[in-house]
Amino acid sequence: MKKISLKKLIVSMFMMVSIFTAGAVGITQNVNTADAENISSDYIWKSARNIKTYIDPNLTTAQKKAAKIATSQWHDAVPGLSFTNTDDESSANIVYSSNPAPSNKSGNTHISLIKYSDDSNWYLSKATVETNLTDPSEYSQSMQRTYNHETGHALGLNDTYDKSEKELTVMYGVKDGTTVNVSLPQKQDIETLNNMYGF
Ligand SMILES: [Zn+2]
Repeated sequence: MKKISLKKLIVSMFMMVSIFTAGAVGITQNVNTADAENISSDYIWKSARNIKTYIDPNLTTAQKKAAKIATSQWHDAVPGLSFTNTDDESSANIVYSSNPAPSNKSGNTHISLIKYSDDSNWYLSKATVETNLTDPSEYSQSMQRTYNHETGHALGLNDTYDKSEKELTVMYGVKDGTTVNVSLPQKQDIETLNNMYGF
């Protein structure tokens, strides 16, 4: 019979406690809100292995498809991040909203932060993705790029405006309508998330 090491047992018990704690209600201390486009610190989900997503029924069929594909592409890129869809907006972590992003942006993500009583770090508690697309009814590569980019923010990634990184990350910040070919999460994005989450 194989013996389970005490260390392994303690680690798995600790993980169970962590998962329970992350999902528990009533231990939050403070909630800050910030616009993900304007923050420079990296925040992560404590519940990275069970991120609950809500897709606003008022989005177009094409937008719903793009939101679903975005989460599956991020999961494929970083398997430690897992997503479950929920019909309950209030308990969702990432909300794909039908509210429009500001007119000068194709997408925008608002985030809320949370602090748990047993942990001094701030974590993501809610991310709301808004878009402002030229044709929301037609599925396109640029629509997918917008959803992938905004979902990157919802996972804790920041924009980069360094032109040399244009092809290296889906987080390149498109200003002035520049054409960008990168729509999938790139190696740089994957490495950053793996480092941030410790996968
Ligand atoms: Zn951005």
